[in-house]
Parts: sequence; structure tokens; C-alpha cells
Amino acid sequence: MKKYDISIIKGDGIGPEIVDEAIKVLDAVSYSCGFSLEYKEYLMGGIAIDETGTPLPQETIDGVLNSDACLFGAIGGEKWDTLPRDLRPETGLLKFREAMEVYANLRPAIIYDELVNASTLKPEVIEGVDIMIVRELIGGIYFGKPRENDGFKAFNTMVYTKPEIERIGKTAFELAMKRDKRVCSVDKANVLEVSQLWRDTMEEIAKDYPEVELSHMYVDNAAMQLVRNPKQFDVIVTGNIFGDILSDTASMVVGSIGLLPSASTGDKTAIYEPIHGSAPDIAGQGIANPIATIESAGMMLRYSLGEMEAADKIDAAIKKALKDGYRTKDLAAYDAKEVVTTSEMGDIIANN
Ligand code: ATP
Ligand code: MG
Repeated sequence: MKKYDISIIKGDGIGPEIVDEAIKVLDAVSYSCGFSLEYKEYLMGGIAIDETGTPLPQETIDGVLNSDACLFGAIGGEKWDTLPRDLRPETGLLKFREAMEVYANLRPAIIYDELVNASTLKPEVIEGVDIMIVRELIGGIYFGKPRENDGFKAFNTMVYTKPEIERIGKTAFELAMKRDKRVCSVDKANVLEVSQLWRDTMEEIAKDYPEVELSHMYVDNAAMQLVRNPKQFDVIVTGNIFGDILSDTASMVVGSIGLLPSASTGDKTAIYEPIHGSAPDIAGQGIANPIATIESAGMMLRYSLGEMEAADKIDAAIKKALKDGYRTKDLAAYDAKEVVTTSEMGDIIANN
């Protein structure tokens, strides 16, 4: 029987709750598809600070690099917010992404037909939405230096080099070739120099992909257009902070932030994680939606392990759960037949 080594990072807040449900589903699907998954758990974020004194232990870096893929929950919480920035959970996550060289964060936002009536937007606006947000993950203002806060003056720096823009641009164009062959590059080139280099570089890359139509949009307009007419988008490629913001927006177009999975990829390894954070406000209540994490596990099977049948089964199992009217609280407002807890949703999907 084929066996894969999976590194697991549950993290903080709802992280452990949602990752446990994804493992439940992975166990069910691997059993029925005839392969086995061996999990090794590693610490990161607040829990790592509490247990080891650092948000990113070296053991975690080594463990993930030695595994076939990593399934990740979320990190952070109020408890650690007063630590010096260098010691905080979020700093650990940024360093982790940097160490793994996962420069491309792929965030599909696809509407489930079963949820067309669960969104606050009109069905005709969202029916058929299928967007791939390609967010640059290890550059831009989250990483740029200098950065400082001396109590009077504070600043960060948005930096991109041409090679950084080229590699994320290529990822986006390659994805577009397998999709609807449209790339919308999102920037703020009317105001920012870094965005002008971004835009010029995208134009250069486009020359190598004559079949792909490239358009540009300012980020403020893109936020508005995503809500007004999301179907105009196929692939969106953008920098770190703009991608962070636009994917939270896109999540509400398809129903809930608890639905969007992601794959953080590079040339070394891949990390699969929901787009949302550790949601401390709802942790421990059994109301978090595990679907984003379960879908992330599905992306892991598809992209890192090549287990397509198993990935398809996860998609189908989620759709069936939604079709049967099961909803976690975040999706409950409109058309729930039954409101279920985090672990009930995991059970239902695993059984399906
Ligand atoms: P980060 O900086 O890590 O992205 P964030 O500040 O954007 O974190 P999140 O943790 O993503 O915040 O939470 C934003 C809101 O979405 C919170 O109200 C949270 O409860 C809600 N939320 C996040 N994930 C889920 C989920 N899986 N199910 C239901 N609600 C969620
Ligand atoms: Mg967020």
C-alpha cells in the first residue's frame, strides 16, 4: 500500500478543532482509496511559544521539509499579542513561509451550487463563480525592510524585486492556461512605484503567453468589482497584502470565510491551509466551519500526492453534506436544514 508522510501543524485558536476534522476525512478517504497517511505533529505559533519558548522551533522546519506535504491550521491569539514582535506567533508564521520558500499562495474561491442561496449576494451575481487568487506570499510589505515603530514614527516598506514578480507572474499565467486564460493583475500603480514595476513585469511575462488575456486593476476597484460582479474574474494575481485582503472579500462572495482553502507552494514543499486565521473569538465553541481545512486537505491530495480520486471524493462528500442541508453556524442564516457543530460536520463529510 502506498504510504505518505504528512506533517501536521494545528496551531492555536480553532486550529486544532478544524485540523482534527480534516484528519478524520483524510483517514476515511485514504482507507477507501487504498493508501495510507502517516502523520507527524509539529508545533508553531502560540502553543510553540508556550511549550518551547519560540514560535517556530527548528524541529518544525526540518519536519515539514522532510514530509511529503504539510497540513496547517492557524496560529495566533490575544494571549501572545503583547510579546515583542519578533517573538509573536505571526512572526513565526512569516518566517516559516519564508523558510519553506512558498512564494505562491493559491486561493480558489468557487461557489458551491448548494450554497448559491446562502450568500448575502444575489444568486445571479454569484452562480458559477470560479476565481483563483494567486497571492505572493513571501515578499511585499509583510517582509520589506526597513520596518520600525519607535512610538512616535512607524513605517513598513513594500518591496518587490523583478525576479520575485516574475516567478509569481509565471505561476499565475501557467494556471490561467489550464483555466479560462484570463489574468487580472491587481496593484496600485497610480500611487506606488513598487506597483509600477509589478505592472510592467506582468506585461513582459504576458508576451510569453499570447493566448492569455492580461488586464490590470487597482486594488480599491478590485475590492469593489469582486462584490459587484465576481464572475468577471478568472485568475487574479497580486501581492502579499492585497491578496490577503481580497481573498477575505472573495470568501464572503462564496458564502463564508470558513469555506476557502489554500495551497502555499514553491519549489521545495507545499503547505495546505485555510485562508482564515485562528478565530480566537469562536475557539472552543464547536462552531468553526471545518470545510476550508477539509478542502485544503483535498488540495493536498490533488497537488502534492497525486491522489485525484481521493480528492474528488472529498469534494463530492462536502457537496453532499451541503446539499443535505447541513450548515455550520457561519452558513446557517439562510437555508439550513440542520445547524451542526464543527465535529458533526467533520463526521458527516467523513461518512459521505
Ligand atoms: P489572520 O490575520 O490570521 O488572517 P484575521 O484577523 O483575519 O486572522 P480570522 O481568524 O480569519 O481573523 O477571523 C476573522 C473572522 O472570521 C472572525 O470573526 C472569525 O470568527 C471568523 N472565522 C474565521 N474562520 C472561521 C471558520 N472556520 N468558521 C467560522 N468563522 C470563522
Ligand atoms: Mg485574515
